[in-house]
Amino acid sequence: MKQSHLFTRTVREAPKDEASANAQLLIRAGFIDKLIAGVYSYLPLGLRVLKNIERIIREEINAVGGQEVLMPTLHPTENYQKTGRQSIDVLFQTELKNGTKLFLGQSHEEIVVPLVQRFVQSYKDLPVAVYQIQTKFRNELRAKSGIFRGREFLMKDLYSFHANQKDFDAYYETLKQAYVKIFTRCGIGDATFVTHASGGTFSKYSHEFQTVTDAGEDTIYLCRKCRIAVNREIRPETPACPQCGGIDAEEKKSIEVGNIFPLKTKFSDAFGLKFKDAEGNACPIIMGCYGIGLGRLMGTIAEISHDEQGIIWPESVAPFTVHLLTAGKASESLIQKADDLYATLQKNGIDVLYDNRYDTQAGAKFADADLIGIPWRIVISEKTIEKNGVEIKKRNNGTTTILSIKEAITSIKER
Ligand code: ATP
Ligand code: MG
Repeated sequence: MKQSHLFTRTVREAPKDEASANAQLLIRAGFIDKLIAGVYSYLPLGLRVLKNIERIIREEINAVGGQEVLMPTLHPTENYQKTGRQSIDVLFQTELKNGTKLFLGQSHEEIVVPLVQRFVQSYKDLPVAVYQIQTKFRNELRAKSGIFRGREFLMKDLYSFHANQKDFDAYYETLKQAYVKIFTRCGIGDATFVTHASGGTFSKYSHEFQTVTDAGEDTIYLCRKCRIAVNREIRPETPACPQCGGIDAEEKKSIEVGNIFPLKTKFSDAFGLKFKDAEGNACPIIMGCYGIGLGRLMGTIAEISHDEQGIIWPESVAPFTVHLLTAGKASESLIQKADDLYATLQKNGIDVLYDNRYDTQAGAKFADADLIGIPWRIVISEKTIEKNGVEIKKRNNGTTTILSIKEAITSIKER
């Protein structure tokens, strides 16, 4: 994409109403725009990151048998009367012209259970795992942390259905591993810990994936040896590492990027969701639910991967792979060479943002490149042309190298 074509611009001033570094940088670099607290637009650069995150999640969830659907946002309130969740505080309400009340979906247990019930009758129909990537609405009391806590936000929510506890336990473990893969591919694997959290009224634990960052709202106790943690909310019950029994757990601030939750038969019982076993007996179905907030994940990546100058995107989620710029006087021949290089990179299957704003100061263009944080920067100038090459630099380290165009393409593709 040519940068002159982007309708968004970077801004120098940090927005005064955003406390977290990730929200400030994402807004300054033109990835997101705040409409009201907790409600954001994703702009062209931001949407590209979000789509990359979405692709990684979709690949890993499809790989563990998830079947993608898209469920509605407008929910009948009767479904919530069955589960007793009609009065939870985050529910947004609306109504039809005839006065019928509706809820805006904050989660989809009340919708997915009756949906699955229409098709699953026998043990032969199980297990089933259904997921979606869809917008949730929550009337969050606090929405001060940028896209960490939206009132409207994208979630991947998966629901699994099992004939027995053993089958559920195995799938729960599979999902735990799939989440590890997702967060590793998104570049936050090292900072993210499987965390024991409250299982609510239905099980001893649920598990959260907590990423260590001072911008987070949660407090966890880490066991670095086991790479697991305990959420402070259950600390009194489990003063030690649940795995090795160690008690010198480190206290850290963190943000929950995802969670996996055993639901036992809470929702199946509410709707009478049962299956017939081989002997024809009706048995309740055991469920789990598994969430990841896509915007929160994007914010977390920016939060733990930035410097004074801007964001440092991991290649897997970056909006583009290469940021192409020119330096020095923009002669007609230099512009021609830069245009040709842009075409060559694209022909080689490389996603390029080409800064063709020849009326903009070089310093401002370089500052923009650092702020936007694309992994590879390629600069072409009279100086590099004299050396038959281009200057190439990775955003995450300061060293620049002169390479021929062919060599530059090879190093990018072999990364
Ligand atoms: P939290 O404790 O942070 O409010 P939660 O327990 O409400 O999270 P779930 O309802 O299980 O979380 O949602 C699943 C995932 O969706 C979370 O792990 C998080 O990544 C994301 N998420 C939850 N609430 C929000 C929100 N308001 N904005 C953005 N993402 C969210
Ligand atoms: Mg919540």
